[in-house]
Amino acid sequence: MNGWTGRILHADLSARTFRVEEPPRAFYERYIGGKGMAGHYLGERATLSWDDPAMPLLFFNGPLTGTPSPSSGRMTVMARAPLTGAVGDSSVGGGLGTRLKRAGWDGLVVTGRAHALTGLVIADSATEFRDAENLRGAEVSRVGEGAGADTSTAIIGPAAENGVLFASIIVDGHYCAGRGGLGLVMASKNLKYVSVRGTGAVGIFDPDELARAREDIFRLASASPALKGELGIGAFGTGALYDLMHSRRMMPTENFRATRFDYAEDMNAFRYKTRYATRRTGCAGCHILCKQTGARGETVPEFETMSHFSALVGNTDLDAVVEANRICNETGMDTISAASTIACRREIMGENLTPHALTGLLRDIAYSRGEGRELGAGSYRYAVSKGRPGASMSVKRLEMPAYDPRGALGMALAYATSTRGACHLRAYPIAHEILRKPVATDRFTFSGKARIVKIAEDMNAAVDSLTACRFLFFAATLEEYARALAAVTGMRMSAQDLLRAGERFYYAERIMNAANGFTAHDDDLPDRFFTEEGSSGDGIRVLPLDRAAFLRARADYYLVRGLDERGLPTPEKCAELGIV
Ligand code: SF4
Repeated sequence: MNGWTGRILHADLSARTFRVEEPPRAFYERYIGGKGMAGHYLGERATLSWDDPAMPLLFFNGPLTGTPSPSSGRMTVMARAPLTGAVGDSSVGGGLGTRLKRAGWDGLVVTGRAHALTGLVIADSATEFRDAENLRGAEVSRVGEGAGADTSTAIIGPAAENGVLFASIIVDGHYCAGRGGLGLVMASKNLKYVSVRGTGAVGIFDPDELARAREDIFRLASASPALKGELGIGAFGTGALYDLMHSRRMMPTENFRATRFDYAEDMNAFRYKTRYATRRTGCAGCHILCKQTGARGETVPEFETMSHFSALVGNTDLDAVVEANRICNETGMDTISAASTIACRREIMGENLTPHALTGLLRDIAYSRGEGRELGAGSYRYAVSKGRPGASMSVKRLEMPAYDPRGALGMALAYATSTRGACHLRAYPIAHEILRKPVATDRFTFSGKARIVKIAEDMNAAVDSLTACRFLFFAATLEEYARALAAVTGMRMSAQDLLRAGERFYYAERIMNAANGFTAHDDDLPDRFFTEEGSSGDGIRVLPLDRAAFLRARADYYLVRGLDERGLPTPEKCAELGIV
């Protein structure tokens, strides 16, 4: 096969055995890779508890990974999420997907539970388990020490070992499979790290055609202000969004009690650039390079982290944001959930945090000390335990990203209906509502948003199955990537075919969530957004969401998604999509 290797590695930690699966080509054509393929393996066991040894922890690259197709080196990590009980997956960057492919594997399926802390080592076709008890409690950089340039790692830190429900898996030191607690699934298997050395080449069906498809994508990316403009993410990283969200009065501030942060100008991406003398870096095989590293090796936070560790928690110290990000990466915690849980605590306790107290609290969470023990359960469980459930800004118990839903109503609908919980990556209506691409829409109406959300979810499910980077889709479309896919694999799928496959993958997630008891009741937003106004001013009114309009939009969404009025999958839609 070209593009794919035709081999999937199964690792059983209980039996300490490996097995090689060689699925037929039809399997690859149906599930493509990444999210599509991982979803197939999760679907078989979706109702198991996340800590059941039979729950698979899935790592899948895609058909374009390891080829010259632009920005196509991401991978999907998936399991049932401990924080939410729903489908939990992350598209993660770095080099792990590429290394796994170059080692000869399309995916890694980890099951079982080792009797002691273990490392899983892949060196091309050689595989072995290694004792990792000496690394118990070790932070991520210590575990990754000595990994060669041709090796990539996925590591859990002390937070996962200590039971933090939003523990993440850290790839290559600072790329995070962050949301929902996938690190805790890895910890439940007694798996401290996965290390992959891959040196092989990936077969390409038509290199000349791939070169043409690549040129096309490069040309479109170069013409995109969002990617390559002087204020775009290529220049400033995703932090470029910070000023934009602030100017639109939709920056989540003080645990979403306000939408404008008085100190934003001192905390924006430009300040990081000058203070840390940043340079660009990024995932394997990417020319955009949207990550930023400081001159002394500091990892500069992404937009969500930048925003939540400043405005959301009321912090005005730039260095504290960088340190908070470092602690989360070193101990293995999702920055969005960590910051939101601290913001929730701050609201309930009514006390401000000094930078020192903020970073101290993060360490307490990671090491399960004192109050950190309660906070490690995430904002929802914490707020409920304090008798203040309304202080948790979460959907399906997953904390909300850095776009206030009162300022972009499509985003509000996307948060509510996402299969993962409050998520800006299933659908990103911000593109239409704020970035004005590809078609500008009125951000303060629900009208037309159901269809926008549904199409974006389908498209992103397809993109995550190709394991391309979503950012490229500010410029290119599925058409260009369908051409790259055909050039790499020889498989001809139109953009419409890919969209249809994405719809199937997404619908399968609704089926898994329904099997775990999720209904329309869970497709909702915290009350605050329906009752409290944001920070209006400068001619912008940030009104509470109209509950009746929201419910109508949700009903519209169910209609276009093919769900019944309870948000549940229907046999008719399953038949239409060929899901049995
Ligand atoms: S644009 Fe950024 S996130 Fe996307 S592949 Fe490139 S470096 Fe990674």
